[in-house]
Formats: sequence, structure tokens, C-alpha cells
Amino acid sequence: MKQISLDLVDPNQYDVIIAGSGAGGLLTALALSARGRKVLVVEKESRLGGVWHGYWVDGYRVDQGLHVITRVTRGAFVRFLKSYLSPPPEFVLHDGWEFRVCDKTGPIPSSIGETLRWPLTGWRGRLGLVRIGAKIKTMKLDEMRKYKDISFLEFMQARGATNKVMLDVMQSAIYMAAGVPISEASAYEALRTLKDTDREPSKFASAKKLLFGSSEYDEGYVIGGMEGLVKRVIETINGDYVLDAPVERILESDAHVTGLTVGGRNIQHSRIVSDIPLWSMDKIVESDMAESRAFFSRWSKMEPTKGITLWLGLKKVVIGDRKNRVLVHPNPNRWIVSVSSFDRTCAPDGRELVAIAMMAEPGKSLDEHVAMMKGNGFEKYYPGILDHVEMEHAQMSYATRAKLIPGQTDLDRPGPRTPIDGLYIVGTDTAGSGVGLQQAAQSADGVIHALQEDSYL
Ligand SMILES: Cc1cc2nc3c(=O)[nH]c(=O)nc-3n(C[C@H](O)[C@H](O)[C@H](O)COP(=O)(O)OP(=O)(O)OC[C@H]3O[C@@H](n4cnc5c(N)ncnc54)[C@H](O)[C@@H]3O)c2cc1C
Repeated sequence: MKQISLDLVDPNQYDVIIAGSGAGGLLTALALSARGRKVLVVEKESRLGGVWHGYWVDGYRVDQGLHVITRVTRGAFVRFLKSYLSPPPEFVLHDGWEFRVCDKTGPIPSSIGETLRWPLTGWRGRLGLVRIGAKIKTMKLDEMRKYKDISFLEFMQARGATNKVMLDVMQSAIYMAAGVPISEASAYEALRTLKDTDREPSKFASAKKLLFGSSEYDEGYVIGGMEGLVKRVIETINGDYVLDAPVERILESDAHVTGLTVGGRNIQHSRIVSDIPLWSMDKIVESDMAESRAFFSRWSKMEPTKGITLWLGLKKVVIGDRKNRVLVHPNPNRWIVSVSSFDRTCAPDGRELVAIAMMAEPGKSLDEHVAMMKGNGFEKYYPGILDHVEMEHAQMSYATRAKLIPGQTDLDRPGPRTPIDGLYIVGTDTAGSGVGLQQAAQSADGVIHALQEDSYL
């Protein structure tokens, strides 16, 4: 894909116009290119990728956010990249989860045996965890769906599962996915995060997992980071892109999309895929149709998750392993990953790049978050670590456009279609289960299916 200026755009050259170049928009463009279509991407910022982004700071390559890719061996995002990039990118699997509660550490127990030996709680807590763990692991997706409008805490309390350590650890796992505490997260989304599946396993497979554990939670990192990945995706897409070009209006006539307005210029087209956050679409879509106005107004209330990531470049290797670590207590919950242990190319030789992430707390500034992340027990976990810091860089941004709360679970989201023929929507607030890049990839899948069903592909 190559950059062109707005005045050179000839809309007749393109099969589809993509408004907004986040992961949802770029993955859709990638899939369309693989089907021989040519796209025009129109992006309001001066770079492509949206929050899917990586860049360099003082010799270290950071991502926008701590991007641990979930479902490295089986997810939609990885499937997209493996299908459409040649050679496929290389993913490095993590080495398991480690939760730290005060001075004790333990993994996510993956079998009854492991649960009974779980070091983070006493006997009562372990037995409670076996009971609720078995219930969750064997629960059918249909049953989970029934709990979409209650919180996970309500679900647990109704089953007498109130052991504090167990709830705190579950809270940490769900916090990072849902962007909210368990008192707010939809029980359906929390249950799915804990079960980590979208498919219905057989009874035998469930029982086997329960007894002997499983290799679930296959998170990992990609060699080259988000910078390398986004660059390869952009190179592979067939088409052109325009930067610094905010879409001002998307136009409709007789229930069909007719084009968009960018920088005061009308660009006519009958096939537009919008990756613009749904919360701003009702101000952009210009339509006389009551159905369309009600649709965009309904979805304008989606709430995003907001995250903080603190990147530390260390003069020497202090952590040096591929564990996904979560500091549960003392608060705040922090997720700590030694990114250079996955990919040496992101730090100078002999140095280490560590990322610490937490969900943003309302009303707190970036500096206040950074102080909380570096303090409150961090040095107790890694004595002296802060003495080796030679690069420090903090970011705050929305991570996904829909918190996993009642009313905006994947069962509630609108999907790829709009009431306007030829106008499709993509991105993390439109469709798709799971979090972040999985959601973006699933939403792109949805758009491709819808275009096929509508005989555009
Ligand atoms: C802190 C952080 C941590 C993360 N961690 C992970 C992780 O560990 N694992 C994971 O899978 N995912 C993670 N992600 C999430 C993942 O990167 C995002 O969810 C995903 O990239 C969002 O994709 P999206 O399609 O919803 O697009 P967005 O990134 O929201 O893109 C929307 C695009 O539309 C553009 N736009 C908006 N308005 C207009 C307009 N009027 N005209 C033209 N263009 C417009 C924007 O500039 C942007 O480029 C993380 C993200 C962050 C920021």
C-alpha cells in the first residue's frame, strides 16, 4: 500500500474504502487484498494502525501498550497473519502465569491436582476453588450466555464462592481482559475469559482437562513487535492510503451509502467499511433514515477500556524470563512482562526491556499512575530493579473500544452491518469475542463474511 495525497484520490480505482486504519480496518484491508481487491484507507492521524502501534525510545522498541497476543496457537488474529503474510510472523509463547499475592506466588491452577496444591490460599480456599473451577470448566457456552447481564461478582456470590484470595486472583485475570473490576465485568465475558474458549469441548475433553490440566492460555509475543507487524501488514495490502484525513461525513441516499467527505472533498463510493469508533459515528453518518439514526445513537454510548503502560529499559537483565506476572497484592494490580526475553531485537545487547501495565483509575494523572506502578511493592518483588533504569516511558490510551460489561458484551454488539446498504463497521466495539487484537480480527472476519453474503466478494 502506498501513501497518496487527498487531491490525487480517484475513487473509481478502489473496490472498497476503509475509513480508519486501526487493527480492524487494516486486517479487513489485508483480507480484501488477498481476494484480489484494491482498497483506499483514509486515516485521520499522521500514521496508520490506530492503537496498534510500535516505535523506538532511546534505543528500545516499545509498543503502544503491553501487547501480549492471546491465543497464539489458535486465535483469529494469528490465523489472519499466518494466512495472509508470507512468510508468516514468528510468535514466541510465554512460559505460564505467575500471580503474586503479598509474599506468595502461584500459577493459574489448570487441574484439580494443581488446585489442591495451590500455594496462594489455605485448604478451605482450595476446596472452594476446585468446586467453582470445575463448574466453570465444564459449563456450556449456552449456559454462560444466561449470565451476560449480571456481574461476575454476583455470579460468584450466588454460588458461595467468596474466598478473598481466589476472588482477587480472578479479579486480576479478568481486570486485564474486561478493563473493569469483577463487580462490573459481565459474568458471561468473565466466564469465557477463565474458560478461554469459544468452542464447545466434548465432555471427555473437559473431564481430561479438569483432571490433568491443559495447555490453555497460550499467550505470546511476536518477533519484531507491533512496529514490525503493522509494517508488514501495510506492505502486503493492495491499495493506497491518505493520512491526516479525518472523515467528516459518511453520506447516505435511499438507504445506500454514497460516499464520504474528507477535508471538504466528497469522495463517492458505494462500499465503505468504517473502523471509526462507534461512539463518534452518529455525528459522522448523515442519514435521513430513522432506523439509521437510532442505530448509531444506540451504539454511541460504548465505553472503552483505558490502560497505562510503563516501559523500563534496564542497563542489565534483572527478570530475564518469559513469565506473565501479575502483582495482585499490594495494589494496584500490575501485569509485568520482560518483553526482551521474548524478542532480543527490542533492546540493546545485554539490556532488558520490561513493560508494566495496569488499568487506568478514573481521575488519576499519568504521573500518579506511574508512581503507583513503581511503588507499592514493585521493588519488593524485584529488589534494586529501579537502580538499573536507563529509559523510562509511560503511555495512557484506550486499549479496546468496548469494556466487557453488561450491555456491551460480544452478544450485545451490533456486528458488521448497519441499516445503510454498503456501509459496514469493524473494530473492537462492533463484534468479536475475546480481547484486543482477537476481537479486531474477528470483527474483520465478520465484515468479509457480510461482503460475501451481499455478493460484493
Ligand atoms: C495499552 C494497550 C494495551 C493493549 N494490549 C493488548 C494485548 O495485550 N493483547 C491484544 O490482543 N490487544 C491489546 N491491545 C488492543 C489492541 O491493540 C486494540 O484493541 C486494537 O488494536 C484496536 O483496534 P480497532 O480496530 O478497534 O481500532 P483503533 O485502534 O480504535 O483504530 C481506529 C482508527 O480510526 C481512526 N479514526 C478515528 N476517527 C476517524 C475519522 N473521523 N476519520 C478517519 N479515521 C478515524 C483512528 O485514528 C484510528 O487509526 C492493547 C492496546 C493498548 C492501547
